[in-house]
Formats: sequence, structure tokens, C-alpha cells
Amino acid sequence: MCGIVGYVGKQRAVSILLEGLKRVEYRGYDSAGLAVLENKHLDIVKKTGRVAALAKAAAPRKFRATTGICHTRWATHGGVTDANAHPHLSSDGKFALIHNGVIENYVGMKGFLLGKGYTFQSETDTEALVNLIAYHYAKEPANGDSKSRFLESVRKALLHVEGTYGIAVLCVDHPGEIVAARKGSPLILGVGENEYILASDVAALVSRTQNVVYLNDGEVVHITASGFTLSTIQEQEELEPKFDRITWSIEAAELGSFAHFMEKEIFEQPAALENSMRGRFSADASTAIFGGLNLTAGDLRQIDRIVFCACGTAWHSCLVAEQLIERYARIPVEVEYASEFRYRNAPLDKNTLVFVITQSGETLDTLEALREAQRKGYKVMSIVNVVGSTIAREADGGIYQHAGPEIGVASTKAFTSQLVVVAMLALYLGRLRDLSYSDGVDFVKALKEVPELIRQTLAQAPHIKEIAKRFAQYRDFLFLGRQSMFPIALEG
Ligand code: GLU
Repeated sequence: MCGIVGYVGKQRAVSILLEGLKRVEYRGYDSAGLAVLENKHLDIVKKTGRVAALAKAAAPRKFRATTGICHTRWATHGGVTDANAHPHLSSDGKFALIHNGVIENYVGMKGFLLGKGYTFQSETDTEALVNLIAYHYAKEPANGDSKSRFLESVRKALLHVEGTYGIAVLCVDHPGEIVAARKGSPLILGVGENEYILASDVAALVSRTQNVVYLNDGEVVHITASGFTLSTIQEQEELEPKFDRITWSIEAAELGSFAHFMEKEIFEQPAALENSMRGRFSADASTAIFGGLNLTAGDLRQIDRIVFCACGTAWHSCLVAEQLIERYARIPVEVEYASEFRYRNAPLDKNTLVFVITQSGETLDTLEALREAQRKGYKVMSIVNVVGSTIAREADGGIYQHAGPEIGVASTKAFTSQLVVVAMLALYLGRLRDLSYSDGVDFVKALKEVPELIRQTLAQAPHIKEIAKRFAQYRDFLFLGRQSMFPIALEG
């Protein structure tokens, strides 16, 4: 996972790129780099270390370019070095490319390109792709529509890629343009006033626009200062873009008075949980209501088994869902690691409902588990925090957490908000079966008290800090818990 930002517009690109990159730095921070295109010349600056180191290295250059791309890396192929940092330049100097993902067949690709005289400066998988684009560009007739020559060479190269990518490409012959594409890694196009911002995460572009187009897998976008075209990589079919609006503002992605995002997000829990519950209880406050499940009460009564799939923290939320749904709705639940489920051909029967849980909505194993269940003809529901994310879009129905952006790597408010959502789900499914009206009312009342209880706990922060100081130097901790507290202990 890494962070990607691209800019085409009328402003100077570098400061906009770096501001966006800082906001997605949590996605990968072993090295960072940028490329700008000005006067038919590509300039690249890249450095191991954080975005701040890149900003320092780029500052003396005083770039005036209004088109550029930048990247913060989380290495998969090749060590953490300046040479391996992105962007990568094709050996003919024509293309610069940033990449989020893994080119699985890069070894064969590289062998082919070495045979054609292309040279390599890095150990990355990514560099094979930028050279393959250059190779196709050199093969394309130069006399045709020159715009589509850029797009076509990227598209043709991608047809040979096995693996995952979110990429953005610059070409010296095409000032003021970016070609970007995705398969398995997120990519969002922000459409602002006379400018376009491309990013792997809405956090990187929300300060400039809330108007976005989420790219789907297998799509490529060609951006110029005057517009963009969206098409499929495989069939070259032009697509009508679907515009969405980001619902949260830039303040949500800013630190404010907190020392770091994890601290901020811990303190945001009461509000996050209130947002997860808002508008989701019936008028008589005896059950939950979900607008997005796309299943009728009748459909849900037919279900005799639920399979939950997730990874990491969300997998622990699934374990809590198992406890609560079995207890309150008496429906047998199984919890699967998405990374296992996608490969192991698990038996499902016709009355099984599949649920996936993921904060980002982009967890690749979870996405593939969802697709595998759908290929088998099952409807898959999702519990997702990031609105418009790939899993939210591909699921047949689902529940948004509405916890706001979670930037800290260790999950806090997104985890507790998942717990509230699965509790509401247990209540809803329970009320469709044997849970009584009065038990439902008690359940709702107890849930509504949770944010206030968290507030009271957070008010003890100074005291908790003192305890933390006493224990901070210990190396091992044991977390104990039983029943629904067992997964909480695992998360600890
Ligand atoms: N596979 C690429 C590399 O190792 C991209 C990694 C990333 O997504 O940051 O350079």
C-alpha cells in the first residue's frame, strides 16, 4: 500500500502535490518522490525517508510546473533506496510513473525489455511497467491522434500486466496531461475549478474539491487541463463518469490540537459512535433500521447461516458479531479470514448470507473474498467506513459506519464503531426472530449510553496517562477476555 497524488491544472503543482502527499503518508513512508513536467522536460526528485525530506530536497528547485505526480512508497520489490523510490523514469526519458501495487510478472517483462535495449536503474517491479509503456509508445504510429498515442501506449502495456496497480503516468510529449489506471489499488479523480487532482485516498484531495469520480478496476482515465475521458483498459470503451461528493470536510483530516492522529481518533470515539447510530433506530426504539441492506425482512428471515469475512482488526469485529448474532438472533455465524476464504473454496449453501467488514473498503483480500462469494452467486453485504470505496461499491448492500476518516494505522474509532454496527445488526436480526419487544428496547437504551460512557472514560485521560507511564517500559502484556470480550483481548 502506498500513497499516490497527481495534479493537472493552473496552479503550481509541487505545493499541492506535497500537501496531498502528507495526508496519505500513513499509507507508506519508507521513501517519497515527485515528478513534474514543464517545457517538455521531466524533473524527478526522490528520497528515502518521509515526505518532509522530499519537500526539503525539492524546495531549492522552485518548480513552476502545473502538472505533476508524487508517491510515498511502502516497498514490496527492492530495498528502501533513493533509486527504488518512485516515480520511475523510462530509460528513453519519455515517461515518469508512480505505482501502488505489485507487478507479478515483472521478471519476464524486464527480460523482454532488456532484450530490446531498455535499461534499468532500480530493483522494483514498477520500472518494468514504465519501460513497457515506452516500448509501446515507440511502436505506436506518431502521425495519428497524438493524444491517444499516450493513452494507447499505457493501455497496451497494461494488457500485459498480471498483478495489481494504481498508476499515474506523465509523458514528455504531452504537457498538461496524466494517464492513470487501476486494478486492485484505489484511485480517485477529484474534479476541481480548472484543475484535476488524482489520489489513492480522498484525504489527499478533499482540501481542493469534494467533487470526485471513483475509478473502478479495469478503468483508465486520460486527464488534460481541459477535461478528462474515462474508458476501459480491455475494450477501449468510453465510459460516462459517475460523479460523487465526499461527505466530510478537510477539518476531519486535520490534527487540530492533538499530538497525532491515533490520539485524535481515540477522542473522536463518542462522536463517531453517535454518527454510526444516528437515524438507525425505529421510532419506538426497539430495533435498528438499515437503509442500505437491500434485503427485505422476509429475505433475512430465510437466512440460516452467516459467514463473516475480514482481515486484521475487522476480523476481530467479526468475532464480536459472531457472539452477538448467535446470542441475540440465534443464527449460526462463522468467521473467516478473507485471505483464506478467497483461496479455500468454502462450502456455502443457499440460505447463507455473506458479510465483509473493512474500514477502508479497499482491503485486497477482503475484496477478493467478496468477489469470490459473488462469483458463486451469493449476495454479499459490507460494513465499511469509507464511503464510495471499492468494497462499498461492489457489495450488494451494506452498512456504512460513518465514523469519519481514520488516519492512525492502529484502529481506534473505526474498530469501536464496527462493534456498534454489529451490535445493531444483532439487534435487528434478533427482532426479526425471537428477541422480544422489551428486550429490544433495553438493547437500544444500552447502546445509546455507550458514547457517554466513553466520554466518561476519556475524561480520565490524565489518570490513564499516569498508569501508562508506570507500565510503558514493560515488554509483554497479557490481555484477558471471555465471550464478546475475547476478540477485544485479541485486538489489544
Ligand atoms: N511494488 C512497488 C515497489 O515496491 C510499489 C510499492 C508500493 O505500493 O508502495 O516499489
